[in-house]
Amino acid sequence: MPVMSAPLAPGLPGLPTALPPELLAQWHDSASDRERARTLVAIARFARQSSMHAAQQLGQAALNFAMQASAPEEAVLALIGLGFVAAHLNQPDRSQESVARATELIHEHGLSHLLSSVVNVRALAQVLIGDTNSARQDLQEALSIARQEGHPVDIGNALINLGWLANSTGNPDEALHQLNLLEEHIHTLSDTNIIHDQNNYLHENRAAAYVLLARRARERGRPEAVEQAARQGLTVLRAATASLRTLPDPSIEMICHAHESALHLLLGNLSGAQQAADRAAAMSSDFDQQLYIDVPMCRAELYEAQGNPAAALAHYQQALTLVRSQKRHRDTQVILRAMAALHERAGQFAQALQVTRDALQDTQEALKRVNMAAQRHLSLAQDLQQARRDASSWQDRLRHAETLARQDTLTGLLNRRGLEEGLLAMTENSTDLLATLFLDIDHFKRVNERHSHAGGDQALRGVAGLLRAQLTRRPQALLARYGGEEFVLVTPVANATQAHALAEACRRAVADHDWSALLPGTKLTASVGYAVEPGERLSEALTQADEHLYRAKRAGRNRVYPPSD
Ligand code: GH3
Ligand code: MG
Ligand code: MG
Repeated sequence: MPVMSAPLAPGLPGLPTALPPELLAQWHDSASDRERARTLVAIARFARQSSMHAAQQLGQAALNFAMQASAPEEAVLALIGLGFVAAHLNQPDRSQESVARATELIHEHGLSHLLSSVVNVRALAQVLIGDTNSARQDLQEALSIARQEGHPVDIGNALINLGWLANSTGNPDEALHQLNLLEEHIHTLSDTNIIHDQNNYLHENRAAAYVLLARRARERGRPEAVEQAARQGLTVLRAATASLRTLPDPSIEMICHAHESALHLLLGNLSGAQQAADRAAAMSSDFDQQLYIDVPMCRAELYEAQGNPAAALAHYQQALTLVRSQKRHRDTQVILRAMAALHERAGQFAQALQVTRDALQDTQEALKRVNMAAQRHLSLAQDLQQARRDASSWQDRLRHAETLARQDTLTGLLNRRGLEEGLLAMTENSTDLLATLFLDIDHFKRVNERHSHAGGDQALRGVAGLLRAQLTRRPQALLARYGGEEFVLVTPVANATQAHALAEACRRAVADHDWSALLPGTKLTASVGYAVEPGERLSEALTQADEHLYRAKRAGRNRVYPPSD
């Protein structure tokens, strides 16, 4: 389903369809770049409901307007939106980057009333990489800042997210406690729009808590407690229906249908569960983005209850493939746990064990991601410090920090982080054949020794330029300086012959270049290892190409491995 209509203006992303008329009018009435930035932030927020990708483009446009207008407050608002969207698109690096840049601006310009929102987004990014403890701390911090600032929306958001996080970590009692605090907070509000919005979230998260409580009671074999919790859940959902009627929110409504299905199921009402699941599924197919697993989960449970575990399993498997491809660790765990439980109930203990092993492996990978994120966090802080030293205005600094984060300063090629991001986008669900080349300059230590480090730097720039020139007809290619004097090139190719030809062309470009002016008396050469694999086998390709580079070196340097057949 298309979500974009005509662009806002030449060079700008499209407007979401069904944009409320007041937002459209606000856009047309925006007389300055500052106002345009503000309006685009609001439009981007609206666009999130149907497309996070559209929201990301609109948010970026808002940020550009804010920078043109020298409007730090609007820049922070745009960055908050971008951080939120990146978290939902499973781009933790980008999310953290937006958060870091927003935090800088807040401190520099005394915008402390925006700090709570930023910390809230930081919490979402922490959840994404699987660090729920840090997320909880961040949310508590966001709450206390919001209380100090007397900011009703942010107080509500922090409490909503604390409740949601407690539910998603399997702690419904804690969730209900946070949601009671939220209800008390809502009673102090007067702005009806905020009240309805927060009520929607209050009811949905409360219903989720009752689903968890009823399930726990079932596991403990306490049918009367199941019944009580499930009935309470259904009562909460009636309140949700009322508040959603006042302020519609399709995502929340869809999830409420999924909760309703789960609650009916817990009460043994299969036809009620089926009807609610059908409503959820119908709404789900209206979204171009599948950000929530509630719908496939409730349908799978229903299949099992109807005596069709095979269909349930197929449903889980489908959801699992989706969340894995999007690197949604938390959802992956939820589905794997449900699958293991299903196997156990069906007496398939070997399968249950296998799924549990998968879950364990997934957890270990998540731990690695947490560590990597911590490292990236450090390098990001360094980038920002460097940007502060290099640039005079905050606008330059934001641009510079963005460049530093992805570009190698010496050669202007992508750096490792930039390459990783590019590869993520290039290989997501891609079966296209990719050539992966590792090129390493031969005896580069000698170049430095003979021609000084500065001479070596010039040579690196020269090689970068020669490689770039090989790619003029390959617009999709990614070219990075991977480290010292090692370059990586990844590009779609039709076959292995093309990959070899490209590797050979790169090698020859370095060897045939006239280096006499730059490096008198030195003949510069390079060795190349390459691999050809479909995009989904990228990590294997990287390992292979690296091994092949080593072989090219061992075989005497200034050559390509594997040779053509
Ligand atoms: P080999 O043919 O086996 O690759 O030998 P090599 O000397 O090229 O390889 P080695 O990895 O031992 O040395 C790489 C050198 O590259 C060491 C380091 O001083 C130099 N180097 C790394 N980064 C830079 C840089 O940014 N500028 C300059 N001028 N030199 C660098
Ligand atoms: Mg080398
Ligand atoms: Mg090297």
